[in-house]
Amino acid sequence: MKTQSPVDVVVWLVRDTCRLQDNPVLVRAVEEAKTRSATVLALACLEPRRWKDEQFGCSRSGAQWRRFRAESLVALRESLERKKSGLWIAAGAPGDVISTFPPHIRVTTVVTDLPVAPDEQKENASLVALGLEVLAVQVDELFDAAQIKNALDQLPSSFTKFRKTIEKKQGVTPPEPIGAVTPSALLSQPWKDPDDLATALAVAVSTSTEVEARGGEVAAQKIWRDYLESGALSSYKKTRNAFFGRTQSSHLSAWLAHGCLSARMMWRDILDYEQENGANESTYWLRFELLWREFFRWYSREAGSGLFRREGPSGQAVVYQENPAGFSQWCGGQTGVNIIDAAMRELAQTGWLSNRARQLVASYLIYDLNLDWRLGAAWFESQLVDFDVASNWGNWAYIAGVGPDPRGGRIFNVESQAERYDSDQHYRTRWLNSL
Ligand code: FAD
Repeated sequence: MKTQSPVDVVVWLVRDTCRLQDNPVLVRAVEEAKTRSATVLALACLEPRRWKDEQFGCSRSGAQWRRFRAESLVALRESLERKKSGLWIAAGAPGDVISTFPPHIRVTTVVTDLPVAPDEQKENASLVALGLEVLAVQVDELFDAAQIKNALDQLPSSFTKFRKTIEKKQGVTPPEPIGAVTPSALLSQPWKDPDDLATALAVAVSTSTEVEARGGEVAAQKIWRDYLESGALSSYKKTRNAFFGRTQSSHLSAWLAHGCLSARMMWRDILDYEQENGANESTYWLRFELLWREFFRWYSREAGSGLFRREGPSGQAVVYQENPAGFSQWCGGQTGVNIIDAAMRELAQTGWLSNRARQLVASYLIYDLNLDWRLGAAWFESQLVDFDVASNWGNWAYIAGVGPDPRGGRIFNVESQAERYDSDQHYRTRWLNSL
């Protein structure tokens, strides 16, 4: 049998950053390959921790999330193929997948996203245990670690302090986004696509969301351009609390969570929009919300496994009830409280909810049903198309009063909120009639 000559590769491990534009991980992988005379091998793994595992009896990803991720990976592969490169997509933990590479492929280094949570940290550690060098590159924040360190001696325990300090520091603006980079030519592919990929791609996109959420970098750019061209950004602060509407908010969370769109590019585009159309409270407010996202990413890194404890990173002692029936009524939109049931049905059918609806159903689970907040976070994880570990668990911990700024949590009067933000009952009627 003919033996193939050895090839040195730098693995670009695509994790939650499915794009070519403004991707420092890809840039680093290309640089590393150049200095080592190696080839870049782009690899995405459908990890069992996300594609198979469960927590609190809920799966670790929803059908809409898996579809969106599969579409994003296929779109990335198509973009790479147009550049005469490619992407290997495999089922399994990265260490297990790399261990099955053909013997002539010698992995020198793995370059991947800097983790925001312990699962990815453990995964990197298991690669190191295999004797691989792992370079974890910060990829999806507005500010780099040096800027954060320069602005803050330590991460403040509240978002407001974080934002004010960041905003006060002269010259602290996100670095300019970087252009698309082309990795080396594709090595021949040793395996066929995993079944999980085809299964995920076969899931129908929900037709009832305000925006058709199809994964991929090109789709992300289109949604973002359409939103900017609609002019809705100039009234974002007034509309963002509504329960629905095509341009009620940007609807970009899924593309941000799967890394199809860079937050730095959004930030730069908002500044350009302000130059052209004038700045106001609304244009500022979208940057304000991107700072929330930013805060939770740094907060999650600092909290580590504490973010997933019942008492949260702040260590608050809280007593909850055991009420499996109440939990299952909440999940199924059968609590008897119209606004909660409408929102939970929207979530189950589309994988998306407005920020206001997320806050109300979270408050209801924690303060009306008196259930462990982590059950709610786990259910969201199993449903959301835009699931993002730092934003989801961070927001839940914040509302439960065990996360940042633990001032007794955020309690909403769900009935008065429903009257205020759904006064014509349009939202409730739509989703209560949806079963
Ligand atoms: P816009 O209002 O247009 O905001 C633009 C972007 O800013 C969003 O896409 C998002 O990336 C970021 N953002 C806005 N609000 C927040 C916030 N409160 N925290 C962090 N980032 C924010 N967002 C996720 O992306 N993934 C999650 O898993 C997630 N889970 C949540 C769980 C709870 C209990 C709550 C209260 C909020 C959660 N959010 C999560 C934040 C927020 O609700 C969504 O990002 C937002 O509703 C998505 O709609 P949009 O893209 O139109 O947001």
